[in-house]
Amino acid sequence: SDSRMQQAAQVIADSHHLIAFTGAGISAESGIPTFRGDNGIWQRYDPRVLETGFFRQNPAESWRAIRDIFYATAADTRPNPGHHVLADWEQHGLLHHIITQNIDDLHHRAGSRSVSEYHGSIRFLRCQKTGKTVPFTEQTLEESMDDRGVPVSPWGGILKPDFVFFGEGIPLKAASRSELEARNCDVMLVIGSTGEVYPAAQLPEIAAKGGAWIIEINPQRSNFTPWITDIYLPYPAGEALPALAALIGGLRS
Ligand code: NAD
Repeated sequence: SDSRMQQAAQVIADSHHLIAFTGAGISAESGIPTFRGDNGIWQRYDPRVLETGFFRQNPAESWRAIRDIFYATAADTRPNPGHHVLADWEQHGLLHHIITQNIDDLHHRAGSRSVSEYHGSIRFLRCQKTGKTVPFTEQTLEESMDDRGVPVSPWGGILKPDFVFFGEGIPLKAASRSELEARNCDVMLVIGSTGEVYPAAQLPEIAAKGGAWIIEINPQRSNFTPWITDIYLPYPAGEALPALAALIGGLRS
């Protein structure tokens, strides 16, 4: 078969500290649109709805878009074979950590436990007055809506999704763990990311500078491809990861 796949399987099987860096592309096959590209979210929405300043001024308009983009379909969304392979590799001690830019919770739902959510997640809402979080459920959201269509916390502050908006900092714990993992890995799988969002896009660069192999899975070339990628696999994650798992199974037995 494809010699690049064979080589990637060998590098993964021989790794000592394998980690994954995932972007919106790994969830595309679960039906969650990516931001950029032909069917991207930015074809339908103005990216301003995820700016902190805009949210403060127009919380109802932001919330309408946010619900539609991230929450309306959340209950029907399922992890795909790509997420499941990564969870399986963690369970077998092959994969040490996932750094994800995604906020969709699908790595957790697939069973992965060692995950840094670099941009936060949809699981919580944060009160803008007290800084306290409440778990997200569709019911919490419905019951907390005021007459403007803005969810308000029990403490009277506007509830904001606890994921990173444009212009916000990275959650400290996720930022420091991710950097440590990027420095310590010997192989990084870069899956479904354009490499256009900073500072996240620095992490594969840190790994590459430290001498790690960079294996990239993305049907389209990204900023990483001509720059730091050692083995480029131009396939959808939901096909490439199960195929790699099968090849690695063959190498080990
Ligand atoms: P992006 O939307 O900029 O790019 C997505 C990348 O995925 C593209 O390079 C595309 O070619 C690739 N891709 C598409 N289908 C794929 C597939 N089946 N398998 C593998 N790759 C595929 O995404 P980004 O670089 O991750 O950055 C966008 C930002 O938007 C991130 O910060 C992320 O948090 C956020 N985001 C998150 C979600 C989510 O949580 N699911 C969805 C959209 C955007």
